[in-house]
Amino acid sequence: MTIEIAQMTRSFGRTAVLRGIDLTVGDGELVALLGPSGSGKTTLLKIIAGLDWPDAGRLTVDGTDWLKLDAQDRRIGFVFQNYALFPHMTVRDNIAFGLTVRPRAERPSRTDIARKVDELLGFLQIGALGDRYPAQLSGGQRQRVALGRALAIEPTVLLLDEPFGALDAAVRRDLRQWLRGVHDATGTTTIFVTHDQEEAFELADRVVVMDHGRIVQTGDAATIHDSPATPFVADFMGASI
Ligand code: ADP
Repeated sequence: MTIEIAQMTRSFGRTAVLRGIDLTVGDGELVALLGPSGSGKTTLLKIIAGLDWPDAGRLTVDGTDWLKLDAQDRRIGFVFQNYALFPHMTVRDNIAFGLTVRPRAERPSRTDIARKVDELLGFLQIGALGDRYPAQLSGGQRQRVALGRALAIEPTVLLLDEPFGALDAAVRRDLRQWLRGVHDATGTTTIFVTHDQEEAFELADRVVVMDHGRIVQTGDAATIHDSPATPFVADFMGASI
């Protein structure tokens, strides 16, 4: 799915949070939105997900006007930093959840759901965890399950908001490589939000740098690093190396 965003703005009261965003994410691309806290990354992600609405601008996906579709009809997979799994449900039931709440016409049978969950458990390398409860999992394992829940619905687009932010460095590195592998195998168009440049550059096909509600540069690691478009980008890259 190709996401096209044009001239998008969003303010909260007098605070302009998105100040004219133009961004195209190609079909199957993995893009990292990189920027300091408060730059508008989460707001942009929420608008794509249908959890918030812009004041102006366009959002189309494969040519369809998504601003006319509600969140359910966009069929987004969303993983948050603290996307608590349902504590009273097993891993298996957590992953199945998104399918069990699809509109009736799209809801698979129980047998098909069970088969799909089995497939995902294997594919995501969490096959041994199916009958555990979230409290019995490590943080990294929980995020693998959260991704399983997001992927179960075969999302049009996968959105991840600092999904590894709460984890320690070694686990983050493991999960990055794992996520890259999962992405390459599914080919789902993915936007990954982070304030960690190492994570962005290692994971993404393309990095989009945001500052104060604007996109200040997009490109690959070498371009952004060697030819920062603005003093802010130079500073931001320098500061976090
Ligand atoms: P980031 O994800 O880059 O940290 P956010 O999109 O979360 O940035 O936030 C950008 C700015 O918008 C912040 O200053 C934040 O306080 C403000 N903001 C976000 N959501 C709301 C809201 N619902 N009401 C008021 N201000 C908000």
